[in-house]
Amino acid sequence: TNFVSNVSHEMRSPLTVLTGYLEMFSDNAPKDENSFKLGINNMYQQAMRMQRLVTDLLALSKMETAPIEHKQKVDVATLLLTLKENAEVLGKEKHQTITLESDKKLKLRGNIDELHSLFANLINNAVRYTQENGNIKIKWKKKGDEAVFSVKDDGPGIAAQHIPHLTERFYRADIDRSRESGGTGLGLAIVKYAIERHDGRLAISSSLDKGSTFSCYFPAQRIS
Ligand code: ADP
Repeated sequence: TNFVSNVSHEMRSPLTVLTGYLEMFSDNAPKDENSFKLGINNMYQQAMRMQRLVTDLLALSKMETAPIEHKQKVDVATLLLTLKENAEVLGKEKHQTITLESDKKLKLRGNIDELHSLFANLINNAVRYTQENGNIKIKWKKKGDEAVFSVKDDGPGIAAQHIPHLTERFYRADIDRSRESGGTGLGLAIVKYAIERHDGRLAISSSLDKGSTFSCYFPAQRIS
């Protein structure tokens, strides 16, 4: 019940903006081109927001119903190379430095789409929340028996009281920053789900004004 009411709430505000503009335009179309363009641009942003929300909801629901993949061998290093390039495009106006260190031989047994979504969410969060000229370090390596994926940023950090709640659906430590950067509030819920389905665990360490590190540990039986 809570989930349905949260989704409805998330959908309502972009819909209010869209219907507001549509009513205004159908009653009285703006004469000057700039107001018209501004309206269209706002409607586009809100429609995109709903689209992201639906995409994330579908990703969550797929993971709730699909069987867990054990056999597929995922080349994580190659996947991360693509995600790093995507992140550079996403954050090109922020002039951030993104580095990637990967153990190319370290492969993970699992579902490539879920792992893609897991790694992409953490990397994209680092890009979205970190300020201009910030640094983001992505690593994929072995530590003891486990395989570890980590993303470290020197962004705003997260206050300690929020950390235990971050993976709850629609929980946001900073609502304005989340909305401004196009967040749905579902990214870390997807991350947690995907990690659990790969028998792994998520560790978050963060301090305000210093930055955050999100690490995913996968057990030996998932490594190949
Ligand atoms: P959102 O779509 O709002 O980013 P997420 O589930 O991905 O939702 O993240 C939940 C919240 O955790 C965010 O709203 C933000 O407050 C915080 N957060 C996530 N990643 C970072 C980060 N790298 N730096 C600072 N805050 C972060």
